[in-house]
Amino acid sequence: MEFLQRTGGHFSVEEIYRNVHKAFPSIGLTTVYRTLEVLVEMGLVSRLDFGDGKSRYELSSGSGGTHHHHLCCTGCGRIVDYQEFLEEEKKVIKNIEEALSRKHNFQINEHQIQFLGLCYDCRPKEAK
Ligand SMILES: [Zn+2]
Ligand SMILES: [Zn+2]
Ligand SMILES: [Zn+2]
Repeated sequence: MEFLQRTGGHFSVEEIYRNVHKAFPSIGLTTVYRTLEVLVEMGLVSRLDFGDGKSRYELSSGSGGTHHHHLCCTGCGRIVDYQEFLEEEKKVIKNIEEALSRKHNFQINEHQIQFLGLCYDCRPKEAK
């Protein structure tokens, strides 16, 4: 938790393990993995899927993180967090949530929004 709070980033289990292991050499990868699962269950940490088959973890908005959406570059793995939501974006998400909860009789408490694509550096010249 302290590591995620300090860095405010999105990390894979291996990355978190490498950092935590430096300070606490007795902690193994399995412990880090299990701890993260528990923190996710408790709602303190969010698990994210950026489409590369690797889960990433970040502080959830419930534990001091701020609610934001993601733009993820599938070329270099760069992740842009943004909180300045477009007016349409807020409206669309609210409408979708309302319609989905009605249709499936499901109470939606939160959402994760990820847009996958290519950042400026990763796009071929013609596409800039
Ligand atoms: Zn949102
Ligand atoms: Zn990129
Ligand atoms: Zn984020």
